[in-house]
Amino acid sequence: MSTLRGSGVSPGIAVGPALVMERDAAPIFRLAIPPERVEAELQRLEQALLASREQLRAVKERLSREVGAPHAYIFDAHLLMLEDPLLRERAAAIVREEKVNAEWALRAVSESLHALFSQFSDSYLRERSTDLDDVIGRVQLNLRGSSEAPSLSRLPGPVVLVAGDLTPSEAAELDWERVLAIVTDVGSSTYHTAIIARSLGIPAVAGLKDATRQILPGSLLVVDGSRGEVVVEPSGTALDGFRVAQEQYRREEERLRGTRALPARTPDGVLVRLEANVEFPEEAATARTHGAQGIGLFRSEYLLGRGLRWPSEEQQLDVYRRLLEQMHPHPVTVRTWDVGLEALGPSGPSSPNPALGERALRLLRRSPDPFRVQLRALLRAGLHGPVRIMFPFVSGMADLRAALALLEEAKAGLRAEGLEFGQDVPVGVNLEVPSAAVIADLLAPEVDFFSVGTNDLIQYLLAVDRTDPRVSGLYEPLHPAVLRTLAQVARAAQASARPLSVCGEMAGHPLQALLLVGLGYRELSMAPTAIPRVKGALRAVAAAELRGLAARCLELPTCEEILELVLRELPGEALASEGRREPGLGA
Ligand code: PEP
Ligand code: MG
Repeated sequence: MSTLRGSGVSPGIAVGPALVMERDAAPIFRLAIPPERVEAELQRLEQALLASREQLRAVKERLSREVGAPHAYIFDAHLLMLEDPLLRERAAAIVREEKVNAEWALRAVSESLHALFSQFSDSYLRERSTDLDDVIGRVQLNLRGSSEAPSLSRLPGPVVLVAGDLTPSEAAELDWERVLAIVTDVGSSTYHTAIIARSLGIPAVAGLKDATRQILPGSLLVVDGSRGEVVVEPSGTALDGFRVAQEQYRREEERLRGTRALPARTPDGVLVRLEANVEFPEEAATARTHGAQGIGLFRSEYLLGRGLRWPSEEQQLDVYRRLLEQMHPHPVTVRTWDVGLEALGPSGPSSPNPALGERALRLLRRSPDPFRVQLRALLRAGLHGPVRIMFPFVSGMADLRAALALLEEAKAGLRAEGLEFGQDVPVGVNLEVPSAAVIADLLAPEVDFFSVGTNDLIQYLLAVDRTDPRVSGLYEPLHPAVLRTLAQVARAAQASARPLSVCGEMAGHPLQALLLVGLGYRELSMAPTAIPRVKGALRAVAAAELRGLAARCLELPTCEEILELVLRELPGEALASEGRREPGLGA
């Protein structure tokens, strides 16, 4: 038994076998092969090598025919690599000795051959490592084509998924029904996969650094997402203890869900609107069962899926309409595409630092079509219920005006085509870039509402990469600069009478949610599963008290002092529903 520690990013406890994934061109899983299946696995490897040889021969022949034999020589080198015992026999030996799947064995061979190639002093030989990738990539593809190959959308049974990283598009493809828990080397609580795990109520621990190396495939894991721990091969007694804790957690969840019909009202009568953040349309049902009064953030880019294909206007209209129907009579706020350059195609330019580069509205000038299609679908969805359009990553008036101009263009286009649409669909800004937050008063006349994206706001204000576990200790939602910016935004929204919400992860953390209410926020949007806990906390403290507390926090110079004051002043029952320490949300 050993214990790995990271940050708990989605609470709860799960027990199950590890499925280890590594990403190559596509994800590669490391599977334990039972001794009686080793021969069959060797056959799979042999078949894939054979298929690769046939394909390479065919390519070589075609090339010789079409462009001449001299150009086809490179494929001779590829064929030789394929036959080389360093590849072929070594891979088979790994399958046999380590009892792992062929994909994983090939990956190990590839790593050792790359290490060997990098030592060559001859640059021609060194560069052959690209050919090696090509050859091994082909064999991997052929293995993937075989019917037993697992994939993200076809997991081999209920598993704890252990991955280095899990991108949003991979998360979109994942067979979540078979995921008991998620364990990742990178990431922190505002990491998108963590956000989804929380939404779905699946325990997750992130930022474990080298879990993919330390955890053997098939080993039994206990994932405690509340404490941020992963226990590998637990002893019998430890396992019994975890089962008891798991049952307690389940009962507490059930009790909290029972508060669904209760209003989120403070004892002095202040009502707070609690909405849900969702990534997948199917989550609307969970939002409802947890008492959400609307969808405060639909991260629409998840509709692109792993293939990064833009959905058509009709496909989108269908999704937005269904969301509105499911949430009726509550509003649904759809955030327009928050994607990077990669969504425009693999052959285009790339950004050296995507978090600060060309993304979201900044892509509009380069490629307005996907935005136009989305705005048309959203305007048309306005006929089916209270949909709201939210623009992300606005950094100033120019971005906002460009987006608003496109919206007007979309309306004119619909009118010209005689297509009906909602006449008063509210349009708002996701305040998440500090420059926009600072000029919220200037942006206000142009928009109908604001929603603060604290995940990015904190990242940019404090210059802390939200996905990098090495600096996650510096990601501090209670930093004085964060609280002061939030207070300033609340004042600007009040002065201009613009509805204001928070849709970052702060809203789903009871202690931080209480401070937000103290700062004047009356709408909070969070992972559906966080709603009951936040509601429990709100029902325990008067808003007037929170206002006084927030005002005192705004005078303090450090997060530590702010946290200390809040913990001292808030009544125990306000944080009772927080249960064990909430997953790593900074303070
Ligand atoms: C945010 O930045 O706070 C937010 C809600 O959006 P995302 O987490 O998708 O960046
Ligand atoms: Mg954001």
